[in-house]
Amino acid sequence: MANIAFIGLGHMGSGMAANLVKVGHKVRAFDVSEAAMARAEADGCIRAANIGAAVDGADAVVTMLPAGQHVAQVYANEVFGAARREMVLIDCSTIDVATAKQVGSDAANLGLTMVDAPVSGGTGGAQAATLTFMVGGSEAGFVLARPILEGMGKAIIHAGGPGMGQAAKICNNMILGATMVATAEAFVLAQKLGLDTQTFFDISSKSSGQSFSMTSFCPVPGPVPASPANRDYAGGFGAALMLKDLKLAVGAAAGVGASVPMGSQAEALFQIFNGLGGGNKDFSAIIKLLDGSWQD
Ligand code: NAD
Repeated sequence: MANIAFIGLGHMGSGMAANLVKVGHKVRAFDVSEAAMARAEADGCIRAANIGAAVDGADAVVTMLPAGQHVAQVYANEVFGAARREMVLIDCSTIDVATAKQVGSDAANLGLTMVDAPVSGGTGGAQAATLTFMVGGSEAGFVLARPILEGMGKAIIHAGGPGMGQAAKICNNMILGATMVATAEAFVLAQKLGLDTQTFFDISSKSSGQSFSMTSFCPVPGPVPASPANRDYAGGFGAALMLKDLKLAVGAAAGVGASVPMGSQAEALFQIFNGLGGGNKDFSAIIKLLDGSWQD
């Protein structure tokens, strides 16, 4: 079993670090939040005084941080100085492709092995160790990262070279955001046309309109008991995180000249919804913007 430094113990990182402990790894954890540190300690992690102390002598470093600037700063200012060539550096945060490529290239220039390995599966997947990891980096990096990621997920896929994990993640989530908007507006239209919601679900979920947005995160209460719509859109995948991922996708598209009209439209709608105070609700609550029932 490995010595692992785990940096960033928030909604996702806390469950992921706890799962690494459960499968027998020794996990030295660090977060700037004392509450996060206390929870990690209760889950069996070893409290590190700072990032350098967590990384020193580790076999692997896992980071799960909010955004690109945090990842760039943590690696440049703290991880790289304490890292050694034998260890693998694994960034699981969702960040922009350009920063992922830059940090990966900085690592390579220092003789270090780094992969970007963003996840799909949300906090439920983080807790249940059922995440999907999309890994960007060298084959050697993938081989080193895989046994660590296996303690936290069920599917570990090599997406390509540096940054390609992030590319897969934002393209996937652009589909998710756009299909949720399409699904939500179809349910609103069905209701206004006088079609029973459950009946429409029963038909469309077995027809060509079916999608993950419909069958796992159905935006209307009733048809899918586990969907956040049944608990006033609490929990799930926050609309603020969806906006973040759509911005990353649309920004990346602009950088390479790709046309993403559906992704751009979804971004614009989630921007409005976040501006109206919906950011903490599950992203399926976008239906309340579309049917005019949203009240902050
Ligand atoms: P979060 O804000 O709950 O956790 C981030 C943690 O990083 C916090 O505990 C924060 O204190 C810590 N942190 C920030 N700067 C730090 C620093 N310099 N050193 C040490 N710790 C630092 O966020 P989250 O929901 O856990 O998401 C983490 C990443 O995973 C994000 O990139 C997000 O987009 C991605 N993601 C989230 C979900 C989800 O459902 N929450 C799903 C998939 C991917």
